[in-house]
Amino acid sequence: MKYLDEFSNPELAKRLLDRIRATATRRWAIMEVCGGQTHSIIRHGIDQLLPDTIEMIHGPGCPVCVTPLEVIDKALEIASRPGVIFCSFGDMLRVPGSERDLFRVKSEGGDVRVVYSPLDALELARANPDREVVFFGIGFETTAPANAMTVYQAERLGIRNFSLLVSHVLVPPAIAAIMESPSCRVQAFLAAGHVCTVMGTAEYPPLTEKYRVPIVVTGFEPLDILEGIRRTVIQLEAGRHEVENAYRRAVAEGGNPAAKTMLEDVFDITDRAWRGIGVIPRSGWRLSERYREFDAEQRFSVGDLHTAESSICRSGEVLQGLIKPHECAAFGKQCTPRNPLGATMVSSEGACAAYYLYRRLELPSEAAHA
Ligand code: SF4
Repeated sequence: MKYLDEFSNPELAKRLLDRIRATATRRWAIMEVCGGQTHSIIRHGIDQLLPDTIEMIHGPGCPVCVTPLEVIDKALEIASRPGVIFCSFGDMLRVPGSERDLFRVKSEGGDVRVVYSPLDALELARANPDREVVFFGIGFETTAPANAMTVYQAERLGIRNFSLLVSHVLVPPAIAAIMESPSCRVQAFLAAGHVCTVMGTAEYPPLTEKYRVPIVVTGFEPLDILEGIRRTVIQLEAGRHEVENAYRRAVAEGGNPAAKTMLEDVFDITDRAWRGIGVIPRSGWRLSERYREFDAEQRFSVGDLHTAESSICRSGEVLQGLIKPHECAAFGKQCTPRNPLGATMVSSEGACAAYYLYRRLELPSEAAHA
């Protein structure tokens, strides 16, 4: 296949669905790790086209959703300081902190700017030597290389008025944490292709061995996802638990060596808090000792800021696949994309927002009786 729309071909999708239906002899619960895959599954109705034997559980792979509330509050605190230019990708501006969001800080006079690359923020720092420029560096292994490169460049060019507010998280420790949970129902994983484009697949065999779960690396288009599910079901039915790469057009086994070298130089592995899940050991990155002077938390002394989550929001359970978004009592009532209570309703990759956007407003039992 040559063009993107070919990966949505309805005839091929139907054939894959038929094969999945013919292969699955019992119920299987498969988690798609990535929020981009969740969005694609709901947008294209893949979960509704699958046979009843296959349940898709939506995982914690939305970077905006898992960024802890206290990190959002730290961003708000830094962005409110005089002399600061606070730069972020646009999706973080509406994420509510304890009392406000970055849009509110901007409306109150804070210099908050949307950029399309961390290098844009570095350029702002170079052009404004009398200001402190901070970039909000969140996300998984996918966004980390560009952030690492920017800090490397800041050091190399001697741009000392630039810093990074870091909240990077890693997929493999999250898979381990999900499997360690006593309430875990997941029997197999679709791993995120773009993460593996950077990191390769070598981190996954220890997980398939330890937890005896298949992990199939796949992409984001409907046929990618269906092929990933098909391969996963074949493994489950055969009692196998292996790593398979169903996204070879983008993922090499060794990942991107240049990006990995940059990540190793700029970041150290650290424990990280995941919103709604809690601290997962060795599940994130922080700036390494060599680059610590570019750490915004340290520069602005916001490391001790601690905040509490909304008592109504059940995004933690959504992120762990324990409930579907419309099982939260606030879904579509107190909580909508215009008035989000939790990050999974704010982000376009969040499961709650995807369910709301594509009108999955009823519980399955309600829909059946409607
Ligand atoms: S619907 Fe809103 S309140 Fe409920 S879990 Fe999702 S984000 Fe939280």
